Formats: sequence, structure tokens, C-alpha cells
Amino acid sequence: MNPDQFRILVVDLATGKGKVELIDGRSEALGGSGLAAMLFEKYGDVSSPWNDAEQPLILAVGPLTGLFPLMSKTVCAFKSPYHDQYTESHAGGRSALSIRFAGYDALVVRGRAPVLSCLNIGSHHLELRETGFLAGANAIVTGKAMRRMFRDNSGHRSMLRIGQSGEIGCAMACVNVDTYRHFGRLGAGAVMGHKNLKGIVIQGDRDFALPEGRDYPKLFHKVYGMVTHTDMMKKYHNLGTPANLKTLNDIQSLPWRNLQQTSDPAIDGITGERLADEVLLRNGACSGCPVGCIHIGFVRERFDAESNRYMYRQVGYDYEPIFAAGSMLGVTNGFDVLRILDVMEKVCIDSMSGGVALAWATEATEKGLISEKETLVPLAFGDARGYATAALYLGTGVNEFYRQLGQGTLTAARNYGGEDFACVLGQEMAGYATGEVFFAAQSLGFRHSHLDTGGYSYDQKHAEKDVEKAVSFLMDDEPGRCMLNSMVSCLFARGVYSQELLSECLEVAGFSESANNLSNVSEQIRKHRWKLRFASGFKPEEITLPKRFYKLTTWKGKVDADYLNTLRKEYGRRITALVKSSNQE
Ligand code: SF4
Repeated sequence: MNPDQFRILVVDLATGKGKVELIDGRSEALGGSGLAAMLFEKYGDVSSPWNDAEQPLILAVGPLTGLFPLMSKTVCAFKSPYHDQYTESHAGGRSALSIRFAGYDALVVRGRAPVLSCLNIGSHHLELRETGFLAGANAIVTGKAMRRMFRDNSGHRSMLRIGQSGEIGCAMACVNVDTYRHFGRLGAGAVMGHKNLKGIVIQGDRDFALPEGRDYPKLFHKVYGMVTHTDMMKKYHNLGTPANLKTLNDIQSLPWRNLQQTSDPAIDGITGERLADEVLLRNGACSGCPVGCIHIGFVRERFDAESNRYMYRQVGYDYEPIFAAGSMLGVTNGFDVLRILDVMEKVCIDSMSGGVALAWATEATEKGLISEKETLVPLAFGDARGYATAALYLGTGVNEFYRQLGQGTLTAARNYGGEDFACVLGQEMAGYATGEVFFAAQSLGFRHSHLDTGGYSYDQKHAEKDVEKAVSFLMDDEPGRCMLNSMVSCLFARGVYSQELLSECLEVAGFSESANNLSNVSEQIRKHRWKLRFASGFKPEEITLPKRFYKLTTWKGKVDADYLNTLRKEYGRRITALVKSSNQE
């Protein structure tokens, strides 16, 4: 790796050709989020729509990828079909290590393939193979076909693919990454679909030199020890994030039945412990991660209606998918939850968006705003069979209702009614009904992700209503996350990778300039990302909050409408001011 330059593979799908570009600016952009923003500035256009064929799909890794544990994420940047604004989605699997072992810091995919195709890249090859026979295939079938078609470098190979949802332009379409990870939110799958790209194979087919001297192995062992021999990461491997289900239910912060409740005794069916006892098959891990937080459960599937022969299907689960296909839909049996998630995996939709959308559709049915004429299958809280079928309809856009719902719950609600109870915080809510700070933070967040800020955590520790303190927390917390997202570290390791430790890692890896300037660079990256988001149409004052969020009761009591509105206003003002100051620099 050159400490000053990025090595980027730029692919034009229209011609099936690519070129390697060396781009200056590592000390200003680091990698990951910062690099993705820099590349969007160079190759994208904030004012053209997301489905302009020239808009890039960017996959970027960080300077420490392949050198230190848990530097396992890839940042996927694109203009989102959900709101037509610049955004990012993050995923691990083998993607980051494969890009690094192929010798690149980023892949930029532009143009549109003439027919449905798979892109296959490595350090010395680029191939665009026609895969018209995969049209309409789900993500699991597509993955199997791709593994047969692209056999080389299986241990160092990453496979990204879409299902039917991406092909039809569903704004909830995600990209499946190596089966158990996803570029989940904001519709990256539809961007691939629009580019006629069914899959991307990244072959990490070469080596790279490790830093010389004794400092690197010494520091590596120190970090490795921190993540494996201390309690810092244990919880992620053991029960994993599903442990949060009971914790949040206990403090009246778990969304139930389209957020009509925040706690329910029926939690016992879907706690992290119960899932581990009943449905857990094994743990998995992203490449380069010794923690292994990926929990993989199983469901039985009958071969056909008549036979008594079954096959077992493996389905990954985390806190968010369980909230979305479980409590939010009133489904309280682990196997039932996994059956719904299995369908979402196949059609390849973001489970959080899908679950929240179907929860809204259920309440809209109860209230008589829609009927089976639209939903085609009876929807009732707790009825897993109906939800599995509805998830298939949503992902395949089987009728006008599901096609509208696939563009976002609020899009459907504007047409059919029920905006008040559409649980949308900029995008379908993440599973944290913790209170005012989270609601303000997610609705105005850069990725509309709970990991954009620590708002959900702040709510759980602060009952006081101090707007200045809360907004300052959100603003001060963000650069550190930008720094980690530029490295690109798994955010579960944010307790391990302090700024000091990251500086040490950069120093021994040969990036001294970045190591000595991390605070400043992180702030610049934060500004750059927001600048692109605003330039592509983000207006904080236009984001509305459905009434449902004002009617909740959490552990802090009833949601305080004045506090929530003031928080939103002030947080929006501070982000806007940040962008203005950056424009003047
Ligand atoms: S902790 Fe989990 S998500 Fe993070 S890198 Fe490891 S396996 Fe991947």
C-alpha cells in the first residue's frame, strides 16, 4: 500500500472494461467513509438521479484492512433509491479482505451492463459475464449459481448478489454479502439491479507485504489479546446482539406490534437465551475477525407437499432482524421469526424496512384503510405464515400496493392513509424505542442507522431533558464514528479502538501523517459526508415524525413532544451550520 495514494479499480459496465487509477489524498480521506465521499465527489453527481447509469456504486475499505483484527467492513456508497440522496451502507463478510487481497482500496462501478450480468474482478482480471438465466432468481439460488460459475480463490473470494427486489427497483432491496451479511439499508440492491448487475465476485488473489520490523507484530498481538482475552467483545460472541431484546423490553423500549407497545410479557419466546437454546446452529465471523458475532439458526423446509423429507436451511439472525420480524409483527416463536427472515433473505430486502412496512400494513388492515384486496393474504399480528407470504409479495412487487410499499412505508401511507402510525424515522425505524434523543438522532442521521450516533444509548442513561447536552453529545460523538468507519472497523470494536490505539496502528502500518492528524481528519470527513448529503437534497426541516412516536411510553415516562421537537430542531440546526461552515472553508 502506498501511504499517500489510493489504488482504485474503476469499472465501466457499459463496455465491460476497467482501469486502475492512483489517486492522491490518503491523509485527508483515510479510507472507507472518507474515501467513498472523495470518490463520489469525483465520479458521482449530486444533482443527477440515483438511476442515472453513470452514478457510481462504490465499495471502499480502510488503511488497516487486513492488518488488524475487526478491520472487516466495507463501505458501500451510492445515491439512494429511497430518497435520492447520497448515502452509505456498511457490511463485512469476506468483502473487505477480498478487496484488500485483490490489491485495491476501492472499487467504483459505473454505467449499465447491456444485459443482466455478474462482474468478476481480481488483481489481474476483470470479466463481465452474462447471466440472463439468473433473471428473477432469489439471492440464495443466485449465490449457489455464482459459486459454481466462479470457483477460483474460494477462501479469499467475496460474493455480492441481489434477489428479485433489486431487479424490480424496490427501495428496500439490499445486497447480500457472502450469505450472512448485507448492505442492508437504503436500497443498494436496487442500484445494482438498475445497473443490470446480478452479482459481484471479488477475488482476493494476491498477497500484500506486512509492515516490517517488530512493532507491527507486537501491536497486533496486543490488539488481538484485547479482543479475545478480555470481556470487551465476549457479549457479541455469546448471546450476541439478540441479548438486547429482553434488556430493551424490560425498560419499555422494544417496539411491539407496530409500536403500539414498548414492552410485552411474550418476550420470553424470542429472548437471546431462548433463541440460543432453540434455533442456534452455529456462530460465524467476518474475515479478519476473531470474535464471531454472526448467529446462524436453522429452519426446516419440506421438499414438497407430499413427502416427509425435509431440508434444513440456515438463517442468520441479529437483534435488528429479530425485532423486525418478531416483536414488531407480534411473532414470538424463534422458528417462525427465522421463517419470515428466510423469505426476506431470498427476495433480498432489508429486514428492518420489510418488518416495519408489514407492521404498518397490518395496522392499516385493522383500521380498514386497506384490505386483502391490497395485501392478497390476511395480515394479523402474530401470524407468521401470512407475513412470510407478504414478505415474498413485497420483495417481488407482486401488485401495485406492494410496489408502493417497497418504495417506503410513508410512500404507501400517503396514498392509502395511516401516516400517523407509519414507524418511519427518515427510514423505517431501527428497533430502539428508547426515547426522544434516539428518535431525533435516527430521523436526522446520515444513514438513518442507529449506529450513526449513540442516541439509543444516551436515552438509556439520561432521564433529564437537557437539549444542549443531548445535542452536544450527538455532535461530539459523530467524528469518532466517522474515524472508525473510515478505517473501516466493525463498530462493535469501538470500545477497543480508541483514537490513541488507532494512531498507533496507523503509525506502525506506515501512515504517519494520518496517525498524527486523526481528530482533524475525522472532522473533515464528517463534514464532507454531510456536504454531499445536503447537496443531494437533504433538508432536516422537511423530515417529519409520525404521531405514533409522540404517543409512546418508555422507561422515562410518556414521550415529551416539546423536548422531542426542540431536539430535532436544534440537531438539524447544528448539522446545517456544520455544512455551512464547511462550504465557507
Ligand atoms: S464482531 Fe461480528 S460483525 Fe463485527 S467483524 Fe466480527 S463477525 Fe463481523
